[in-house]
Amino acid sequence: MKPVLDRLQRPLGAVRISVTDRCNLRCRYCMPEDDYAWLPRASLLSFEEVTRLTGVFAQLGAGKIRLTGGEPLLRRDLDRLIAMVKVLTGVREVALTTNGLLLAPLAAALKAAGLDRITISLDTLHAERMTAFAKSSRHADVVAGIDAALAAGFTGIKLNTVVVRGYNDDEIVPIARFARSRGIEPRFIEYMDVGGATRWRSEEVFSRGEVIAVLERAFGPAESVSRIGDRHAPAERVRFGDGLVAGVIASTTAPFCRDCDRARVTADGTLFVCLYAEHGVDLREPLRQGATDAELAGLVTRTWEARTDRGAEARVAMGDRGILVPLEGLRADPRREMHVRGG
Ligand code: SAM
Ligand code: SF4
Ligand code: SF4
Repeated sequence: MKPVLDRLQRPLGAVRISVTDRCNLRCRYCMPEDDYAWLPRASLLSFEEVTRLTGVFAQLGAGKIRLTGGEPLLRRDLDRLIAMVKVLTGVREVALTTNGLLLAPLAAALKAAGLDRITISLDTLHAERMTAFAKSSRHADVVAGIDAALAAGFTGIKLNTVVVRGYNDDEIVPIARFARSRGIEPRFIEYMDVGGATRWRSEEVFSRGEVIAVLERAFGPAESVSRIGDRHAPAERVRFGDGLVAGVIASTTAPFCRDCDRARVTADGTLFVCLYAEHGVDLREPLRQGATDAELAGLVTRTWEARTDRGAEARVAMGDRGILVPLEGLRADPRREMHVRGG
């Protein structure tokens, strides 16, 4: 199949589908405010509608599917959706990004439904830090979720940690050890100035270079084994002297837009071709008005072929930068929020 290419010759290869804009955490880098404008319930896609759209993307070459949110496990019966998506023609992999809070009781059912891979977010090993930083005292549930995923037989689990200076930069080595002791690959993510990160300050960004330096002191010299086999992967993988392999995602200081093959669909069926894009394209209305798969595929193809976005690189080029979208802008259009776009 000929890939659908954007204006910079980047193929459409993956799609992140948000299944809800709700979340049971309030991570300070993502949802720091006290209240939010939510997507209207009636606008949320049903499982059947998500499956239709996923099928369209997969037929166009976007066979790597990642379910996300908000917190995707808040969506009841998610295992049913996974089973529906998994059998679609062209789907190569179904993955999930979750904060892990609800994972322990669900891990076995997700595995049985055919989920291929899980990425779990964990920013601290200290329960009290999570209470302060994410407004939840359920740290033990996240750890139980990680262990349940292992017990359910998931392999290739990844642990995502957003490193924020002054909050958890002293936990890079302990988190790496925690992950390794369970056979899990840690991934350290730079704090991004995405929509919704209304407390973002450049001083709080702990850079890729700093993360690697900290890991080198504990685990020996770093060697990039980067993106071998998958240059579109967002994480650079680094092997350290004693064998530790960690991912580093330098979206703020050294972004990877030139290789970005990911589309995003919000829970209300809006297509975004970049995490930073101001506007999206409504797929829900045509879907509900009876558009055929071919018509939906045409809309997605035209949107992707017009794509020139390099949002994170454009932010770097700005030099001195503040927050991306002011609060009023987020209130007026919640689709600009990271927790609506799905990360
Ligand atoms: N709720 C799920 C979770 O946290 O894993 C899935 C959705 S969340 C939006 C997806 C990813 O976005 C998480 O790994 C989270 O750490 C990351 N994220 C959110 N805000 C971020 C920010 N300002 N900078 C960097 N990563 C961010
Ligand atoms: Fe945290 Fe994910 Fe919820 Fe954002 S969507 S607040 S990153 S758990
Ligand atoms: Fe892709 Fe946009 Fe992120 Fe760059 S900023 S990697 S183009 S989603």
